[in-house]
Amino acid sequence: MAMTDSQLVTMKEQLESRGKELDDQIASAEEDLRDYGREQEEEQGPNENHPGDEGTTLESSERLTTVLNDLRNAREQVNNALERIANGTYGICKRCGKEIPAERLEALPFVEYDVKCQSEIERENRGWS
Ligand SMILES: [Zn+2]
Repeated sequence: MAMTDSQLVTMKEQLESRGKELDDQIASAEEDLRDYGREQEEEQGPNENHPGDEGTTLESSERLTTVLNDLRNAREQVNNALERIANGTYGICKRCGKEIPAERLEALPFVEYDVKCQSEIERENRGWS
């Protein structure tokens, strides 16, 4: 069973509110990263060397950058799904063009393939790369 119109509307609303949440999280992660950079500059003058601190510094800014990248990827997935809803291709397998069952979409809102194609793609990726 494909998604009904009302299921699609609900999905769209969920995606939109998820998108807003992500925007907030991205904004605050960007701010953290900026603040972090500023703190580092203030704490360590350009000519000073703190080899002991370097590990933690790198780790934290890397962690923040990773978080930010994850959030941006998630935001992109939300955008893509919303775009597919808007142009009527949401819930249609990108590989074979068949409808993806509603239960699968509810469990995995960003999924772009049906189960059969997904497993074939995974097998191809695993086997021959
Ligand atoms: Zn398919």
